[in-house]
Amino acid sequence: MEKVVIIGTGCAGLTAAIYTARANLEPLVLTGAMPGGLLTTTSIVENYPGFPQGIDGYELMTAMQKQAERFGAKVKFGTVEAVDLSRRPFKLTVDGDPVETQTLIIASGAGHKHLGVPGEDTLEKKGVTYCATCDGALPMFRNQPLVVVGGGDSACEEATYLTRFASTVYLIHRRDTLRASKIMADRTLANPKIKPVWDSVVTEVLDAKQDKVTGVRLKNVKTGAENVLECAGVFVAIGHVPNTQLFKGQLDMDDNGYITRREGSQTGVAGVFVAGDCSDHVYRQAITAAGMGCAAAIDAERFLASSNQ
Ligand SMILES: Cc1cc2nc3c(=O)[nH]c(=O)nc-3n(C[C@H](O)[C@H](O)[C@H](O)COP(=O)(O)OP(=O)(O)OC[C@H]3O[C@@H](n4cnc5c(N)ncnc54)[C@H](O)[C@@H]3O)c2cc1C
Repeated sequence: MEKVVIIGTGCAGLTAAIYTARANLEPLVLTGAMPGGLLTTTSIVENYPGFPQGIDGYELMTAMQKQAERFGAKVKFGTVEAVDLSRRPFKLTVDGDPVETQTLIIASGAGHKHLGVPGEDTLEKKGVTYCATCDGALPMFRNQPLVVVGGGDSACEEATYLTRFASTVYLIHRRDTLRASKIMADRTLANPKIKPVWDSVVTEVLDAKQDKVTGVRLKNVKTGAENVLECAGVFVAIGHVPNTQLFKGQLDMDDNGYITRREGSQTGVAGVFVAGDCSDHVYRQAITAAGMGCAAAIDAERFLASSNQ
């Protein structure tokens, strides 16, 4: 019987692991298919406090894991396939094996929706990105024409943020009006550096042969006309999918599948806590995920203390 099981080893899960391990709770920390989480997919993290020169994402996550293990966290390669949160102890199935736990911290993260067009995967990290706050300031994007794909609040935010660095930001949207809130849409369209490209979809990211982004192939969905737009970066902002399928029907979620928090990191089930991008569609940063992981660990520790476990 575990006192604490943590699902996920991204910034949220590993921070929760550090805190619960230092509280002598010997957490079992399950990596899932992506040990170290999303940050391992990026080369340089420039906005995580404490690293004036930036730090490689993989290196940062390896250090976090070591820090948690130093205090007794049991980090194990394994994916949670099923959960029963109807009563405590909670029952999990991890790669076919049963695990029981008094408390559960869910830090399973969220994935980005992809365009699914040729060149997108090949050129990821070579100009294709899913986070302007994370990557916008990189030298490769400075004073260059950039493309943002999407029409919601996130796309508008990304486009506006990128105007600090780009020569021009092209906002590609499949419709002829933005889906974003009116205030956000008005502000975006009033920005002289943002040029909307309406009724258009990206059909290919160029140029896989050159191993870097040089442009996008666009198709007008009304006329069928195709053209190539030159750019140095493609920021895809068409939404996220939280990794929360597993908890459907057992925990409260919003319409998009993000687990809803009550007080602090508590979910609707006493003893189940949540942290990071699986419950945060607003900030989605390493540092905010880590902060939420810390909060969930403290909440779990206090919950165990108050229930005398
Ligand atoms: C390319 C890229 C660059 C980025 N750059 C930056 C940056 O520079 N600065 C910044 O602040 N943020 C950056 N971000 C955002 C940052 O990575 C995320 O906000 C952060 O990783 C969220 O942490 P998390 O712990 O909530 O989730 P994640 O990092 O997504 O981790 C989720 C974890 O849960 C595990 N998991 C999922 N399902 C299961 C399951 N069923 N069983 C067991 N485990 C499971 C996964 O394997 C993974 O370990 C970037 C994101 C991307 C994609």
